[in-house]
Amino acid sequence: MSDHALVLNAGSSSLKFCVYRGAEAWVLAARGQIEGIGTAPRFTARNGDGAELGDGALGGAVHDGRSALDFLAGWLREHFGGGRVLAVGHRVVHGGPRYAAPTIVTPAVLEDLRKLVPLAPLHQPRNLAVIDAIGERLPGTPQVACFDTSFHRGQPAVAELIPLPRELCRGGVQRYGFHGLSYEYIASVLPRVAPGIAKGRVIAAHLGNGASLCALAGGKSVDSTLGFTALDGLCMGTRPGALDPGVVLYLFQGLGLSAGEVEEILYERSGLLGISGISSDMRDLLASVEASARLAVDYFVYRAAKEIGALAAVLGGIDGLVFTAGIGENSTEIRRRICQASTWLGIDLDGDANLAHGPRISSATSRVSVWVIPTDEEGMIARHTASLLGLTGPAA
Ligand code: ADP
Repeated sequence: MSDHALVLNAGSSSLKFCVYRGAEAWVLAARGQIEGIGTAPRFTARNGDGAELGDGALGGAVHDGRSALDFLAGWLREHFGGGRVLAVGHRVVHGGPRYAAPTIVTPAVLEDLRKLVPLAPLHQPRNLAVIDAIGERLPGTPQVACFDTSFHRGQPAVAELIPLPRELCRGGVQRYGFHGLSYEYIASVLPRVAPGIAKGRVIAAHLGNGASLCALAGGKSVDSTLGFTALDGLCMGTRPGALDPGVVLYLFQGLGLSAGEVEEILYERSGLLGISGISSDMRDLLASVEASARLAVDYFVYRAAKEIGALAAVLGGIDGLVFTAGIGENSTEIRRRICQASTWLGIDLDGDANLAHGPRISSATSRVSVWVIPTDEEGMIARHTASLLGLTGPAA
């Protein structure tokens, strides 16, 4: 019977997982996800070599985070049952001011993390529910929380600042930044994949359902587009990105909406979905002939290019641009349009390389090199989990 380690990444409508085999050094044995939780749940899994282990629609029994975890637990027992579970690593979206590094979960840590729920109402409760469920199912198994905010700690004071009254800011009102596990992974592979820019000034663009940019100087985060919560910056699937806070006041005072209604508008009904009235999914919008879908895509590109310009100013110019996550890794059109809007920075796209998804998608003469690098948040969590427990973990 072999030892296993598990990585769980509970998103707003998905539960991603990885299973690693081994005691000291870990080898990827399975990677998969349940997506469409709450709408049309579907399970997919592959082994470490990419061969299919499972693929199919799930019935109505999988209708929320807990039932998704129940299904996954059954599948894991069937395929990996009998072995010992050494550790479970989790993605936790918000670590607040306190958690600047991955940490072993204790009741006190969990209590701290629950206090951050209002700062990430969509994701934090789901992350913590999975930790609770594992605590019940596998009592005594070490659990490690890896935060989306940690990688951004250490930014210059001006980048973290929110210019409100000092006494409010002392209570933790500051810019935190998110998608840190993704950016940390990208920074960790740059020396191998794109050595020419690894030590330079790079903008990484994590464009998925949630979307943000990170300014990297020598592999360290110096600024990013997400702030106190995961609402700032770029236009996202259902979140608006940066907006005049006066709009929020108007929703309360002018329209008399409740806090719950405003939260739902900002987290679930805005962004690409709000503009188009059709879908939050970039594939649907790119395939649509509706003017509102086109406007949503235009705004997504406009906002991304505008924020790339802002971060380029922070860095004093850029040497490289990296695309990652669902849209960044897969949409040739969005990459082409963002690069076209960023020509002034010295970006010259290689059309064929873009269609081939890179990894390098800029021409040989482009002053700024542009890359497509698939992210691996689960791999990053596995590395942190092993390291905290003094194990070798997966190969980097
Ligand atoms: P998250 O992990 O934040 O839920 P992902 O990183 O999986 O999101 O990205 C989801 C987004 O990626 C969706 O908007 C989806 O439409 C988009 N996407 C995936 N494949 C493509 C593609 N081939 N072209 C355009 N968009 C795509």
